[in-house]
Amino acid sequence: MNLNIPTSSIGRPSETMNNWIPTVSLEEMSNNEYDVLIVGSGAGGGAVLWRLCEKLIAEGKRIGMIEAGDLVIPTHARNIPTISSERFPQYLHNPSFTSHTSKYSSNFPDAIEVNALGGRTLFWTQISPRMDSCEIKNWPVSLEEMNDYYGIAEKAMNVSDSFFKGSPLTETLIQRLREAGYSDSTYIPMAADLKTTMHGEIHSNVFFSSISFLTRAMKRSFDLAVRAKAVEIYTENDRVQGLRVMTPEKKSYTLKAKNIVMSASTFETPRILMNSGIKGEAIGHYLANHSGVRATSSMKREQFPEPLGTLGIVIPNGENCPYLLAMLDPMSWSSQEHERTFQEDVRINIGAYGKVESRFENRVYLDPTRRDKYGVPMLNVDFSYSDNDQKVIQQMTESCRDILRLVTGDDDPSVFMMPIGSDYHETGTCRMGDDPSTSATNRYGQIHGIEGLYVADNSVLPSVGRANPTLTTVAFAIRTADHIIESLKSTETRRSFVGF
Ligand SMILES: Cc1cc2nc3c(=O)[nH]c(=O)nc-3n(C[C@H](O)[C@H](O)[C@H](O)COP(=O)(O)OP(=O)(O)OC[C@H]3O[C@@H](n4cnc5c(N)ncnc54)[C@H](O)[C@@H]3O)c2cc1C
Repeated sequence: MNLNIPTSSIGRPSETMNNWIPTVSLEEMSNNEYDVLIVGSGAGGGAVLWRLCEKLIAEGKRIGMIEAGDLVIPTHARNIPTISSERFPQYLHNPSFTSHTSKYSSNFPDAIEVNALGGRTLFWTQISPRMDSCEIKNWPVSLEEMNDYYGIAEKAMNVSDSFFKGSPLTETLIQRLREAGYSDSTYIPMAADLKTTMHGEIHSNVFFSSISFLTRAMKRSFDLAVRAKAVEIYTENDRVQGLRVMTPEKKSYTLKAKNIVMSASTFETPRILMNSGIKGEAIGHYLANHSGVRATSSMKREQFPEPLGTLGIVIPNGENCPYLLAMLDPMSWSSQEHERTFQEDVRINIGAYGKVESRFENRVYLDPTRRDKYGVPMLNVDFSYSDNDQKVIQQMTESCRDILRLVTGDDDPSVFMMPIGSDYHETGTCRMGDDPSTSATNRYGQIHGIEGLYVADNSVLPSVGRANPTLTTVAFAIRTADHIIESLKSTETRRSFVGF
């Protein structure tokens, strides 16, 4: 039979993909000159990339990102159903992508670096409070402007206080805390997408990671290379020119760029800057983290209604308190928890994050005697808690004990101090400020005196305050991206005037 019907072409594409996100080779990238090149794909790098791509959607600017790690997982680990609460820490500490700062120093042993696309946001806990205004008032950016950028960052990361609202365990304990005088106790703000899937719009990536920034950035084209480690920044006449990048096989490439944004983390960013001979009295100094205290007790489950739900309460205890208290049990949020067996007791944890002073002597610096496999000197870390920091630790210990006593009736809860670095909140090694003798970058995140060289990661925070840092890092990174966009536009305008 001769059917006179045209045959449809089947949907086989002309090109195929090797992985779940398009990447390019360093060889290809070395043929281009980038308007902006971002180093590192964690919270800071992802935010810069997203903002640049969104705002420059119709402009022919060339944007690139390089990431030292590989493609490990395409979303936050908690969004993956096979990663239960027990497997979560086991996977986080996988030595093929996670390393500990004990390799640098016994003074600061327990921070971790996650070398993977998405950085540490693949595993973070998503607690996203704003910094207190009493802290911001000492920063070079006004409270009003910070609030505007916090608003943008919260929207981009789906931050809300709805995650724990209505959970019987949380509601019962909030009520007890408020009755006991902790009147500002409230729900922990979380970066979690809680919209329901409707009309084919899928919201299954509940827990936010920087991969969501990259996904949104893909509305426009940018070049991404993974397994690409920045080792040296090139400058000429106080202007950035490009980067030397290496593969794990130790092949070297030079990438040209008019603007470079370093988002390689509080340890790696100053390491690359110092290895490149970038001068700055404050680079590597003012390392700060949160000191930590944890207390644990338990309560009879029969005191709570069913279902129990989860626990997420923040107890600010007034804005001027030098520490933040949180009641939290991340082990109870896994998508596998419906399989949990019934237990007679409910574990109640309380954790405190203490503000650590910004001090010049707490620093990272290059160790001339030890190099990594790329030939870059390793870091050494000098770090200690000041007398004041130790007073804060003492106060938080007492506070944790008192609150657990009040809430659970347990007169002797177990209380312990967390090892240095285990908060994963280290900041300050490229801090922002107006004075080049006490800050590494200016108020826009640009390294003092080097045109086109920016920093956008935790290292730019002027001080650590008491709030978890990532939301603030993202707010600053978006602001830095806006500044770069303005400078690209003004260069365009200057060029077109020259044309007339
Ligand atoms: C288990 C855990 C829980 C946490 N919980 C919270 C929380 O609840 N709230 C909160 O605010 N914060 C939390 N954090 C901290 C949070 O993850 C960090 O604040 C945030 O990820 C820091 O962003 P960043 O851009 O500075 O660095 P990262 O996210 O670490 O990203 C740095 C990226 O740069 C890449 N890189 C490094 N060196 C190079 C190089 N030379 N060349 C190219 N690429 C390079 C790395 O591979 C990495 O991808 C948590 C962290 C962990 C691990």
